[in-house]
Amino acid sequence: MKFFTLREIKKLIDNGEINIKKYLGQHFLIDKNARDKILSFAELKKNDVVIEIGPGLGALTEGIVKIAKEYYGFEIDENFCRILEKNFSNCENFHLIKSDFLNTDENFWNSFKGKVKVIGNTPYYLSTPILFHILKFYKKIKLALLTVQKEVGEKFVGKVGTKQYSSISVLLYIYTDTKICYSLNKNIFYPKPKVESVVVKILPLEKPRFEIDNEKKFFEFLPLIFSYRRKKLTNVIKKVFKIEKELLEQEIKKIGISPEKRVEQLIPEEIYELYKIIKNLKQGGKNGNVDRDK
Ligand code: SAM
Repeated sequence: MKFFTLREIKKLIDNGEINIKKYLGQHFLIDKNARDKILSFAELKKNDVVIEIGPGLGALTEGIVKIAKEYYGFEIDENFCRILEKNFSNCENFHLIKSDFLNTDENFWNSFKGKVKVIGNTPYYLSTPILFHILKFYKKIKLALLTVQKEVGEKFVGKVGTKQYSSISVLLYIYTDTKICYSLNKNIFYPKPKVESVVVKILPLEKPRFEIDNEKKFFEFLPLIFSYRRKKLTNVIKKVFKIEKELLEQEIKKIGISPEKRVEQLIPEEIYELYKIIKNLKQGGKNGNVDRDK
């Protein structure tokens, strides 16, 4: 087991054992105190099963395998896989999966009897897809601790009416308790990233705040409606979903939403009500296809 210092990482690069691939979002934690602080938010226990996204050279891994019962790391860079295998070969609880975390499917998640903890200093360009992916399996997750770009973390916890409020804030509100628990200094990473990072702690709820009848469809609806976040409801719906203005106004007034409201002013519960109204009106056969052009 080993925590690589900056000098050792530079040596690996000089020796040609690794090369840093920007397109895979590679920035490595080089400060052990910061590493310990990040992991403290995961409240690791000896019976925990942990999945790590992108272990890299194993900075977080080293802290996790010491405590957790089982560890599963997903890494796609072959050079790092070789180094990880060498450094953790004597840890019986260490399992490395050399593939894309985003390819994990129901079979994988259901192979765990209980709930797991997910930890990752995520590649910035993949933070949001990773979050959407994790949410599909929220029932199997006890906690997710993700390091993400500050602006992305702020979207995760975005409040109604602010520019941070987004489809991801709505989903996280429905399924989890999420908070930003720590801000990270750029200097704890090598190479030093251009952007600031934060640690986000996500605790899936036992039951969603409200039931969604067709999660897949609703997950698709959210980014679509939020791409018109500043527009008035009736205008968006008429243009995008080709529903008659009067018909829609009648329906949304029934549930107490003003047609004058803008998308970003709707609380998650209202967005879901709106989704149901649109779905019902469209199923009523009065309307044409969804128009995705703005
Ligand atoms: N955890 C290490 C650390 O904190 O020092 C490395 C973090 S680095 C920001 C992100 C890591 O994710 C890199 O090792 C990269 O190769 C890996 N990675 C990128 N895309 C991935 C994917 N789709 N699945 C699994 N790992 C991925």
